[in-house]
Formats: sequence, C-alpha cells, structure tokens
Amino acid sequence: MTFMTPERAALAETVRDFTANRITPNLADWEALGEIPLDLHKQAAALGLLGVGYPEQVGGSGGDLADVIVVTESVLAAGGSGGVIAGLFTHGIAIPHIIDSGDEDLIDNWVRPVLAGEKIACLAVTEPGGGSDVANLRTRADESGDSWVINGAKTYITSGARADVAVVAARIHGKAGAPGVGLFAVPTDQPGYQVTSRLQKMGWHCSDTAELGLVDARASLITEDGFASLARHFATERLSLGVSGYATAARCVDLTRQWITARETFGRPLSARQVVRHTFVEMNRRTDVARSYIRGMSQGDEVTVLDAIYAKQTGVNCAAYVTDRAVQLLGGMGYVSDGEVERHYRDARILGIGGGADEVMADLASKLLGL
Ligand SMILES: Cc1cc2nc3c(=O)[nH]c(=O)nc-3n(C[C@H](O)[C@H](O)[C@H](O)COP(=O)(O)OP(=O)(O)OC[C@H]3O[C@@H](n4cnc5c(N)ncnc54)[C@H](O)[C@@H]3O)c2cc1C
Repeated sequence: MTFMTPERAALAETVRDFTANRITPNLADWEALGEIPLDLHKQAAALGLLGVGYPEQVGGSGGDLADVIVVTESVLAAGGSGGVIAGLFTHGIAIPHIIDSGDEDLIDNWVRPVLAGEKIACLAVTEPGGGSDVANLRTRADESGDSWVINGAKTYITSGARADVAVVAARIHGKAGAPGVGLFAVPTDQPGYQVTSRLQKMGWHCSDTAELGLVDARASLITEDGFASLARHFATERLSLGVSGYATAARCVDLTRQWITARETFGRPLSARQVVRHTFVEMNRRTDVARSYIRGMSQGDEVTVLDAIYAKQTGVNCAAYVTDRAVQLLGGMGYVSDGEVERHYRDARILGIGGGADEVMADLASKLLGL
C-alpha cells in the first residue's frame, strides 16, 4: 500500500505552506514568549488541520492515522518544531476521551470548539508525586449533587496555562489502583482551576507547561473507566511521539546536508571527509528506518500496545542520535541558540520521558512479551 497517496501529498503541501508562512517566521518570538497564540489554532482549523484524524460527526476533517503522521512530518520538514506540535495539537491527547464517551453535551461544549480552533484542551494526568505510576495518582473527585468536585494537584501539563478545558484524571469512590481512576472535563474559567506555576524547560519553549492546583473544581464525568481510556489512547500518543522523533531527525538530516556541502575546513568542504560522509549516511539510514517502520504501522492492522512502544523507542533513539550528530557536524553553529539544530537537540530530549519514560516502556514491553 502506498503511504504518500496524491491526497496525502496535497495535505503535506498545505501543511508545509502553512508552517513556512505562519509558523517559522514567528517561532523565535513564541519561544521567547513561552506560548503560541490562539490565533494559530484558528488559522490551522480554517485549513482543517486541527481536525485531521477526527470524524466529521464531531467537527473533525476525517482522515486516518497516516494523515495525522503526514501533518507532524510536514510541520517539522518545513522548519516547525516539536514544541509547536505539542502546543498546537495538545487536543490529540485530550479530546479522544470525550469523543469516546459519546456524551453529546461534552462533545458540543468542548470537542467541536477545539477542532474549530476556538478553544484549547489539555490532558492533566501527571502529579507532583509522580507521573509514571498513573494507577496510583492522588487527585480526588467527589460527587456533589449532579456534578463532581475535584481536589488535588497536577504538573507538567502541556497547554495547561492556555486551556479552556482540562481533561483531568482523578480518583473516584475512594477506590485504590487503576479501577479507581476516572476522567473529568474541568472548565478552566473557575476559581477552583489554578495555574500555580508556568514551568521553564530545557526545550519545547513555545509550548506552555503548567503546574495546576484544583480546589473544589467543578467537573463533569467523562468516564469512570479512566485508566482503560488512558491506556487505549496512550498507543496513539506514543506512536505520535515516535513520529516527532524521526521527523525531527529528518529535518536535522536536511540541515546537516546543507551545512556539510557548504562549509569548508582546511580548504575542502566537510562532505569531502570520509568520516563526515559516513556519519551523514548513518544519520540518514536511522531516519529512513524509523520512518518506514512507523509509517508501516499506520498501514496495517490496529496498532498494538507493543507496536506503539516499539514505535516510540525507535523514534526516540533515532532523534537522540541524529540531533546529537547534527550538533557535532555543525560545530559552533550547532550549539548557538539562534541555530535551528540547537533547538531540535533540546526539544527532542523530552521524547524519552513524556508519554511514558523509556524504562517504563521497556518494562511494559517485557510484560507483554510474557516475562
Ligand atoms: C514538557 C513536558 C510536557 C508534559 N506534558 C504532559 C501533559 O500534557 N499531561 C500530563 O499528564 N503529563 C505531561 N507530562 C508528564 C510526563 O508524562 C511525565 O514527566 C512522565 O510520565 C514521567 O513522569 P515523572 O516526570 O513524574 O517521572 P517519574 O515517574 O518520577 O520517573 C522519573 C524517571 O525515573 C525512571 N523510572 C520511572 N519509573 C521507573 C521504573 N518502573 N523502572 C525504571 N525506571 C523508572 C525514568 O527514567 C523516569 O524518567 C509532561 C512532561 C514534560 C516534561
């Protein structure tokens, strides 16, 4: 099956143009500001980009996982960044839970406006006490009449400072472990939703990351089976992080090619040195292998939990190697802060931590392999 159909090639071109015209020229300002503007969401929605991969019945643009992959690849290929993808497409980890609930009111209130670029949604699972051990989170939800109130704290929440709605994981009915995790829609325009800190980070500077306090925050139940919903959608999130990994690597390969053919040392271009050429080939090889492997997953049967873990590990390893070698071959230009490669190097570092740390992924894989 061909991955790059004429329709996907057209989508790729739309996303590249959008990135080159609307994102790349402003990226340095947004990195300094620590966030992207709501206007960018509106512009992306006007082109149908926020809705790629979501059914039209909930306000999406249709399309499948391969189309979502094309969007991520094309943002990075045109000079965008992992931070822009994290901030602009945060809804990808939040609204699938609301859509699955089938609750028309929640879908009307949150899913449609988010896909129309009018509102922003985030997912709040991680807590100051720990992120990897989701089953043991401590934030509590209690029934209060027809509604629920939530008390607790969350941290490292992407778009948490800009969001209109947070999909919050909280413990229900005092039940321990995974069966006690529910998911809730929490409107952020209430005193009970507090952004206690905007966190400064190594990378993803244009993506705001918040620490949150929830104090008697009013909430609507999305599902009492929150752990299962999170586990189901982790597969797509992990695969997407793998895509970000190889797409970041692919951009660094392009930038490195330009550099090693233009830059001369000791009277010859860098690409005239065998050691440089070999490094470049290895960067290219790892990127191609990760791309074909992960793209292939969007073409076959349903992505299994193990597939998604392998996709993440493959993309993370590819990005770690390629961004590091790109910095090396660009020398000082790879290290200075206004160089694009330096940003990719920093941005890629989160990929092995967020959405399931490398070790936690390997542990889960070993269980799935029956060990
Ligand atoms: C920029 C950024 C954006 C994020 N966005 C979101 C978001 O939108 N929503 C959200 O809910 N969370 C978000 N997170 C949180 C992210 O998912 C967590 O950081 C991640 O799950 C790890 O949790 P932790 O940081 O608490 O690390 P911990 O769970 O404390 O683990 C620390 C380290 O210990 C090691 N480790 C942990 N467990 C094991 C184990 N069993 N065996 C061996 N080693 C282990 C790993 O190396 C791990 O990195 C974000 C984080 C960052 C930095």
